[in-house]
Amino acid sequence: MKRPPERYRDFADVTTSARVVIKIGSSSLVGEDGALNLERMAEVARCAAHWQKSSGAAVTLVSSGAIAAALPVLGFRERPRELATQQVLAAVGQPLLLAAWRDVFAELGLSAAQFLLTEDDLSCVSRRTNIRAALEPVQGLGAITIINENDAVATGEISFGDNDRLAALVAQTVGADLLLLCTDIDGLYTAAPGTPGAQRIPLVRDFSELAGISLGTVGSKVGTGGMVTKLEAAQIATEAGCATLVLQAADLPLVFSRLAEGSEHCPGTFFAASDSCRGDRRQ
Ligand code: GLU
Repeated sequence: MKRPPERYRDFADVTTSARVVIKIGSSSLVGEDGALNLERMAEVARCAAHWQKSSGAAVTLVSSGAIAAALPVLGFRERPRELATQQVLAAVGQPLLLAAWRDVFAELGLSAAQFLLTEDDLSCVSRRTNIRAALEPVQGLGAITIINENDAVATGEISFGDNDRLAALVAQTVGADLLLLCTDIDGLYTAAPGTPGAQRIPLVRDFSELAGISLGTVGSKVGTGGMVTKLEAAQIATEAGCATLVLQAADLPLVFSRLAEGSEHCPGTFFAASDSCRGDRRQ
């Protein structure tokens, strides 16, 4: 088998046995009508299940969408501002979200293993060790890991993040090779997408290349992430040796087929891993 490179500098460097973390944001999981987009979820599930089967490496899903799933159920037209109300929405929406993931993965013969985590859980050495130990056998038992923030006890991602930061910390914890940050924009642009002259940035090898680029901080109607939190997440992951791709959720099947082909070309914006050595990443 081809030896993986020491550092993922280009998309083609990410191997066919890569451990992948897929983060999918709220805006990519609900349709125009505000209901969960089951077709999108089935498509993500097909990509994850196929990669897990063909590569032999675990895929970890970090899914937002609990609050978004509960909005129509509890009669909200838009996301309320009050934090405690959002926590209740998350508590109502999480079982709905998980039921939808359970159903789409069941079609593919996989069980959904739910982990509700906080940043503190991943920062505390003993808890992090327990989490890693529990994640390790998931794939071998015929399941797939689905992570969300435990919004009843932590509100970091509700307030600002839509799970981007959590996904990067998860990627670090599982020693992922590739973090896929799926959103509703097809990558990072030199200016707000749609403004004259704005161009997609296909590759970032060093964050200093981004000096001078202005980024919107506002998330969508249903989520709280934006390009700023994606960049922060990319920085955490790449410093841990994990390459990161910011992509449009609809491009996920294309990304997996390009990965399988060992192609140099991918949609979105690819952030090269920094110089940390692969061995250190899984410590
Ligand atoms: N944990 C939140 C959810 O599932 C994600 C944060 C957000 O949507 O802002 O809804």
